[in-house]
Amino acid sequence: MHGGIDPSLRKESALYLSSLDFDGYAIGGSLGKNRDEMVEVVTKTVPYLPIDKPNHLLGIGDLASIARVVPLGIDTFDSSYPTRAARHGVLLTQEGGIKIEKAEYAEYFEGGIDGCCCPTCKRFSLAYLHHLFKAGEMTAMTLATIHNLYFMVNLMRNYREAILDDRL
Ligand SMILES: [Zn+2]
Repeated sequence: MHGGIDPSLRKESALYLSSLDFDGYAIGGSLGKNRDEMVEVVTKTVPYLPIDKPNHLLGIGDLASIARVVPLGIDTFDSSYPTRAARHGVLLTQEGGIKIEKAEYAEYFEGGIDGCCCPTCKRFSLAYLHHLFKAGEMTAMTLATIHNLYFMVNLMRNYREAILDDRL
């Protein structure tokens, strides 16, 4: 579905595509210059889509955006954000994320991200991950990616449970 940030074009695109029997609908094209514009596009588009089919939002995957559009009716996402963030040393957390190369993690030997049960956090301390990133070890990116993908799978599971429990 296209139409840029023009609500009338979005509506036209949504109504036409909804008249065709697709298994789901993907919102693509320009979603605006920032998160607020993207939320505006989604807010004005979703009401014209079939409620019983999955709605996909192309290219959006950061935590703050997901938190705003899941309640609007977006079901699935695709984005390089979690893996790209990992390669840049950002480990996702409930609060958003931490930059593992910061000095404060150099001496953090207590374990991985608090409360995380991913294979990386169960085996390695933040201090070790900090060291691997500082040393330019490729393993650092792999271990951070494992954490971020595990985090995203859990995050989306929590959203699904919240929807099924009528909390969302
Ligand atoms: Zn983890």
